[in-house]
Amino acid sequence: MADYSKPLPVLEGLTEEFYGWCRKGELRFQRCTECSAWRHVPREMCPECGSTDWDWQKSSGRGVVFTWTVAARPLHPAFAGAAPYAPVVVEMEEGVRVLSEVIDCPPGDLAIDMPVEVVFDAVTPDVTLPKFKRIHR
Ligand SMILES: [Zn+2]
Repeated sequence: MADYSKPLPVLEGLTEEFYGWCRKGELRFQRCTECSAWRHVPREMCPECGSTDWDWQKSSGRGVVFTWTVAARPLHPAFAGAAPYAPVVVEMEEGVRVLSEVIDCPPGDLAIDMPVEVVFDAVTPDVTLPKFKRIHR
């Protein structure tokens, strides 16, 4: 844990709240209490209806691979040992999309619509990252 050297989210405002839920092992997204639209990344106003009323609602934790790219060469020195790696966009059942990674899946095995579910990786005492693993059927 102590030697985690990749960039970390800046824990402030709504971002701190989002990662606070992750630290508790819960994936939650903002949901508008006016029009019920889910949203991510965290922001103050509903992009659908303009309301500023919302709460944190629990996600099912399940989604599918929406898209990805393969970084054959690291774009940051801290990722030097990780290449090739695949930043993956997961589309959650709630409809929001999360940029993350599928931890148990080599980039060559990724597929559109592959079912995945969230797992939590406590990379530092303060930061737990939501990552994903394949759902094997
Ligand atoms: Zn709304």
